[in-house]
Amino acid sequence: MIIAVDGPTASGKGTISRALAKHYDLPHLDTGLLYRAVGRQVLLDGGDPDDARDALTATSFPDSLLVDPVLRSEETGGYASRVSIHPAVRQALYERQRDFAMQEGGAVLDGRDIGTVIVPEAGVKLFITASVQSRAKRRWLEMQGREIDIPLDEIERDIAARDARDIARPDAPLKAAPGALILDTTELDRDQAVAEAIRIVDARQAER
Ligand code: C5P
Repeated sequence: MIIAVDGPTASGKGTISRALAKHYDLPHLDTGLLYRAVGRQVLLDGGDPDDARDALTATSFPDSLLVDPVLRSEETGGYASRVSIHPAVRQALYERQRDFAMQEGGAVLDGRDIGTVIVPEAGVKLFITASVQSRAKRRWLEMQGREIDIPLDEIERDIAARDARDIARPDAPLKAAPGALILDTTELDRDQAVAEAIRIVDARQAER
């Protein structure tokens, strides 16, 4: 079974994907990490994330970078969102994601274009969303937990800017894939969101 999970930043898609992978005993790929690694590598190279050639060069980042905690920072997220605009970067990362999805037994992948571009034939497609305010609040609480003090309104502005970039880019814009089930987590806590996602996947499997 291939489960494609897409949605905007801090929607809960990462948490839901990890929980689905555990529940159905499937391998999981957080594709945002690949874009974050490219963003980070551009910075390490002293390149410009808005320059397609610099960003493409950075796609040959070493695998060891994928486990660097700095990839989780807001700054790297911003760089990731800028390098992800370039079609050549998306193309360079395509094969790796596609191969992961097509491995025997299936997989769970989360990102922005999994159901639209990477595996449109996925048996289950979920689009996780939530209001900008609730996503900003979650990110803020997460930051507080890591003792990082960033004002809530700054996070809200950053999330809105990232959404705008992800939605407006001509290549693989963030949108629900045809046939995707939309799960709005604005009013749900973690356990409720996971339970709802499992219910959706079970229902989809029962139909097949
Ligand atoms: O999901 P995450 O916040 O880690 O993603 C970081 C950035 O990488 C996103 O803002 C988006 O621009 C980009 N991305 C993408 N396609 C994906 C996953 C992430 O364009 N499949």
